[in-house]
Amino acid sequence: MRLTRYFLPVLKETPAEAQIVSHRYMLRAGLIKQAAVGIYSWLPLGLKVLRNIERIVDEEQQKAGHIPLLMPTLQSADLWRESGRYEAYGEEMLRIKDRHGRDLLYGPTNEEMITDIFRSFVSSYRDLPKTLYHIQWKFRDEMRPRFGVMRGREFLMKDGYNFDVDRDAALEAYDRHMVSYLRTFERMGLKAIPMRADSGPIGGENTHEFLVLAETGESEVFYDSEILDLELSDRMVNYEDPDQLKEIVSEWTTPYARTDETHDPALFDKVPEERRRSSRGIEVGQIFYFGTKYSEALGATVTNADGQRVPVEMGSHGIGVSRLVGAIIEASHDEKGIIWPEGVTPFHVGIVNLRQGDAETDAACAGIYAGLRTLGLDPLYDDRNERAGAKFATMDLIGLPWRITVGPKGLKNGVVELVSRRTGESEELPPEQAVEKIA
Ligand code: ATP
Ligand code: MG
Ligand code: MG
Ligand code: MG
Repeated sequence: MRLTRYFLPVLKETPAEAQIVSHRYMLRAGLIKQAAVGIYSWLPLGLKVLRNIERIVDEEQQKAGHIPLLMPTLQSADLWRESGRYEAYGEEMLRIKDRHGRDLLYGPTNEEMITDIFRSFVSSYRDLPKTLYHIQWKFRDEMRPRFGVMRGREFLMKDGYNFDVDRDAALEAYDRHMVSYLRTFERMGLKAIPMRADSGPIGGENTHEFLVLAETGESEVFYDSEILDLELSDRMVNYEDPDQLKEIVSEWTTPYARTDETHDPALFDKVPEERRRSSRGIEVGQIFYFGTKYSEALGATVTNADGQRVPVEMGSHGIGVSRLVGAIIEASHDEKGIIWPEGVTPFHVGIVNLRQGDAETDAACAGIYAGLRTLGLDPLYDDRNERAGAKFATMDLIGLPWRITVGPKGLKNGVVELVSRRTGESEELPPEQAVEKIA
């Protein structure tokens, strides 16, 4: 993409309403624009990041054998009356009436609707296990929407629901979700720590939240620093092998890691003092096992192997797709701007032309641009008639992992400059080599 043809409304001033760095950078780098309190338009650059995150989430869910579908944003109140949550959900639920006076709501989550789908079509244990998920906009009329997309009212969530014949199978689904979430966050360049959490209004017995450590996080967290060393990296995961899943889950859940809701100071004291950490964290996901809470309320039963009808065992699992854009920035930035991890970056590399209009420099930039595209990379070419300083500032702000700087001086010696946004390291090398290095 050429910058002169793109839509990148970068702000020079720091917007006064933004209290935390991710919100400031998201506004300044032209990722979002507020449409109403807690509701945002995703501008082109922001949308690219959002879609990258969504794609990673989607791919990792499918690797785990989970099945995508799409449910609507608007739901009928009747289903929620059946589960008893229509009243219980309180003021966070946006209630709507249609022209016929029917009660609708903008879904804050989908346990009821997915259970209704399940009960309409499935009645035998032979059709189990199944996990269905979607990535869809949610609405929660938060008391205090703030921090931009981190606590919005309208936000994009991946929510998945497992259906199993018995408790053991449902706990296997729980493990599978935990591992798939570890993979998902790792691919985004994030350290998200699974922490024992409190089940809250969804109800249930087994639940973990995934937290990204950040000063600006809304949760207080306590953990054993050993958990920071854990990584799946290139370990082969076989989602068909419950023993392997159990082993990974046990590795990640053995070190102490809890949010303030479940924190147990006596237990925490058993962690060697030099490894005891407390800080703040951002909740980017949560997994629940809640058994038959919704299947009983909504009459979702299956016949088991003994021919008895039993309520199906369930769990639900969420990832805050739009919150992740903010969380990644909180975890990865410096005083100049965002530093995107490779997995989610909106463009792979920025090309800065130091002498726009100079035939040789323009031609070199065009060559590099074409070379990158041939390799399947997505470059952003700053072809504006601007000073070098302004171009560098824009590139630093929007945080692409690589910058290739092209100017007449370097070209005279046959070289361009390649700079890493993360390390600041710079090297001069021939254009073709710069291109190869990024690929
Ligand atoms: P929080 O504690 O931050 O209010 P939650 O526990 O109510 O979140 P869940 O019901 O667990 O949220 O939803 C799954 C995920 O959706 C959360 O882990 C979070 O990443 C994301 N999420 C929840 N509420 C919001 C919101 N208001 N804005 C953006 N993302 C959100
Ligand atoms: Mg909430
Ligand atoms: Mg929470
Ligand atoms: Mg939660």
